[in-house]
Amino acid sequence: MTIGDGIASWCLHEELSKNPMLEVTNIAKNDLFIPCSLNTTSINCLRGVEKGVSPLGDRIVDSFKTFEHFFDQQNPQGVYQGCEYQMWKEDNLQKWQKRYSGYNKINDNPFLSSLVKDYKFYFSNNAYFIDPLKLKQWFRSRHENLIHFKEGIVLKVDNSNFVKTSCGDFQFDRIIFCTSRHTRHLLSDDVDQNFLYYLDHSKDVAGSYLEINIPEQSFDFKESFNLVFDQFHCIYRKEQSVLQIGSTTLNRCALELAHEKQLLHIYDYIQKSSFIELPLFARFQQKTGIRHKGFKRLPFWGQISANKFAICGLYKNAFSFAFLAAKEISRSFD
Ligand SMILES: Cc1cc2nc3c(=O)[nH]c(=O)nc-3n(C[C@H](O)[C@H](O)[C@H](O)COP(=O)(O)OP(=O)(O)OC[C@H]3O[C@@H](n4cnc5c(N)ncnc54)[C@H](O)[C@@H]3O)c2cc1C
Repeated sequence: MTIGDGIASWCLHEELSKNPMLEVTNIAKNDLFIPCSLNTTSINCLRGVEKGVSPLGDRIVDSFKTFEHFFDQQNPQGVYQGCEYQMWKEDNLQKWQKRYSGYNKINDNPFLSSLVKDYKFYFSNNAYFIDPLKLKQWFRSRHENLIHFKEGIVLKVDNSNFVKTSCGDFQFDRIIFCTSRHTRHLLSDDVDQNFLYYLDHSKDVAGSYLEINIPEQSFDFKESFNLVFDQFHCIYRKEQSVLQIGSTTLNRCALELAHEKQLLHIYDYIQKSSFIELPLFARFQQKTGIRHKGFKRLPFWGQISANKFAICGLYKNAFSFAFLAAKEISRSFD
C-alpha cells in the first residue's frame, strides 16, 4: 500500500507499476489533508548547486539529473522549459558572486532591461516550470489500470501492517508512507528510532503566494520565466497563462490561511522593482501550501521498519527529489 497523493506518490507509482509482481493499492484523502503538491509554485532548477560540496547538494544534483532524464525520455504533460533569472543589486554582489560565477549585467540584456528596475546583475538558469495538476493527471492516466486507487483517511497502522481506514480495514505486506508532514501521526511502535528522531527534528513551513490568470495578449512573452528579485519571485507560466508572485516562508507554521501582509509586501516590492504592469493586488488569488522541511534540510526516503518505507521532508526540491526517491525505494521491491 502507498499512502498519499502528492508528487512523492505520483513518482513512486510510476516505478512500482513497472513491476508486474506487485499489486499496489493507494489511499489518500486530499480534501482533508490538502497536498502541498497542488499548492505550490514548483519549478525545477539547479540554481548553481554542484556536487561534492554537501550531502544535500549531492542529493539535489542527482535528483535533478534523474528528473531531467525522465523528462527527456517521457516528455510528461505539465512540465515546460523556460528560464529563471536570479537578480541582485550592487550591495549584494559578494553573496551572489560566491554562488554564481558566470553572472551577467542586466544592462546588457534587452529582455531583462525592459522588465527590471534598479537591479544590476543576473544569472540565468535553465528551469522546468511544473503545472502540478496537469502532471498529476498525466501520471494518473498511466497508472489508472495498474494501481487500485481508494479515497480514504488512514487512521491507524499497526506493527503487522494491519491498516484501519475510513474506507475499511486492510492487511498489506508492505506500506510506503508518502504523507509528508503527516507521517509522524501514522507510525506504529516498530519504526526505527533514527527515523523518529529525524521526524521530531523536522518542521512544517507554510508558504503563501499570489496567483492570477493573465490573458495572453497582455503578456506577450515567448516562454515561461521566473524573475527572482533577491528572494522574491515573479513567475510567468506561459503555457498556463498564469502569473504567480511569492512566496512567504513561515517556519513551524501549518496555517493554511495566506499571510496577506507579507504577500502585500512582496507584491509592492516587485511592483516597485519592475516595469511589469501587475494586476491589482485584490484581484489575485491567495494560495498556501505547507512544506515539510527535514532535519538539517535533508529529505528522507528509505526503509523505516521490516515492512514499512517512507518518503518525506522533500521541502523546496520535491519535484526533483521525488524522482530519485521513487527509483531508489522501488529497488527494494525487485
Ligand atoms: C509556495 C511554495 C513553493 C514551492 N516551490 C517549489 C519549487 O519551486 N520546487 C519544488 O520542487 N518544490 C517546491 N515546493 C515544495 C513542494 O510543493 C512540496 O515539498 C511537495 O509538494 C511535497 O510533496 P509530497 O508528495 O511529499 O507531499 P504532499 O503533496 O503534501 O502530499 C501528502 C499526501 O498525503 C496525504 N495524507 C496525509 N495523511 C493522510 C492520511 N492520514 N490519510 C490519507 N492521506 C493522507 C495527503 O492527502 C496528500 O495527498 C513549494 C512549496 C510551496 C508551498
